[in-house]
Amino acid sequence: MDKFYGRKLQLLPTINLQEIPPTSVIIQAVQKIKNRYQCFRCGNQNQHFFATHFCAKCSSHCTYCRKCITMGKMSTCTELIINEDDLRFDPSISGLEWDGKLSPQQKEASIKVVEAVNENQNLLLWAVCGAGKTEMLFEGIEAALQQGKFVCITTPRVDVVLELSIRFRQAFPTISIAVLYGGSEEIWDGNRITICTVHQLMKFRHTFHLLIIDEVDAFPYNIETHLHWVANESRTIKGSTVQMTATPTSEQQLLALKNKIKNVMVPARYHRQPLPVPSFKWIGNWRKTIRKTQKLPNSLEKWIKLFIQKGCPIFLFVPTINECIFIEEAVKKITVKSASVHSQDPQRHEKVSAFRNGDTQVLITTTILERGVTIPNSQIAVLGADEEIFTESALVQIAGRAGRHINYAKGEVIFFHNGISEEMVKAKKQILLMNHLGIKKGWLDNK
Ligand SMILES: [Zn+2]
Ligand SMILES: [Zn+2]
Repeated sequence: MDKFYGRKLQLLPTINLQEIPPTSVIIQAVQKIKNRYQCFRCGNQNQHFFATHFCAKCSSHCTYCRKCITMGKMSTCTELIINEDDLRFDPSISGLEWDGKLSPQQKEASIKVVEAVNENQNLLLWAVCGAGKTEMLFEGIEAALQQGKFVCITTPRVDVVLELSIRFRQAFPTISIAVLYGGSEEIWDGNRITICTVHQLMKFRHTFHLLIIDEVDAFPYNIETHLHWVANESRTIKGSTVQMTATPTSEQQLLALKNKIKNVMVPARYHRQPLPVPSFKWIGNWRKTIRKTQKLPNSLEKWIKLFIQKGCPIFLFVPTINECIFIEEAVKKITVKSASVHSQDPQRHEKVSAFRNGDTQVLITTTILERGVTIPNSQIAVLGADEEIFTESALVQIAGRAGRHINYAKGEVIFFHNGISEEMVKAKKQILLMNHLGIKKGWLDNK
């Protein structure tokens, strides 16, 4: 059988017709609507991603979707079964065995999540990096489980899936949890909680009553709009979608600030210290300087040396993969305890752990490490912060690497640039706004 599982969605030829529940609907997977093809598994409508060939299965010419072909071919002759089960209300199922305590700001968010679940509403949860988002979800998920609902926590990033799965298995030890990502061995078997990458949602239709999307602004969810269709389709018609992010789009920010959408903002970190505010430092044409002298520009070199002396781990963010290497050579002249890492680096995980345990002191990286990795007492520099790759959201995430640990709640963030960009200004403004709201709410200590 195809690797296709799901209470709601199975490939027709592979199951016994008698097993199809009477409430099911059968649809054609790829359909031609008004002369345009559409894939009803992945939502693709881009005609470029459809191909027609002679199909051995049905002995005629079929059109199939290339966009989601890695998950098994969906064509004009494939059928999907969709059905929506009734809820089985069971207040005895809760399974939450987390005994930590929510901070007041986490509690406020948690109440909103429960409310959204109870009232089948959507919610934007805007919480700064390091606010402790995961714990804010526990009570809402508990309520959903008690109501017999199916829960999914999804995110664009595999490493986040793995991290979340550990935390949820600890918090809900008696609940069956499915963890799905490209290459994972597990299969979905009616599990009450599912933790998966957004691509895996293609395997589900009208399944989850509570869909939590973590890091909604992360790649590829932020640009591959067919995934939004996929996410919508994986949710039951009546249900709630909770979108979580530290860096909403400008449009979402505006809607939230004007209260046009149901939202909850958590502008303060759990340790009650403000977010480190980035400073800007002009560095001129640094590429030219490095090429000519094989050395880092003075101001950057001075900054790195200062924190090497203090024994701090240093993140140096750079614009492109190619530049990682030649910048690394220049950094090596200051300290040999340096390394560079990028998305295509096979030793990525080893290098990050060497940085974590102190064997590496300066880690040169592309935006690949803008999220997720937390190193206590790390100091953050961005080289070429004015370049296109460093969007408002990327810069806020990068700045969010600093000061996360309770013992090292302060940290330096510096943007080296050759002309201040609008995105830099917006990022700084967003961080200042969060600190301002944190103070207003009384959630920050004035130290
Ligand atoms: Zn498709
Ligand atoms: Zn066919």
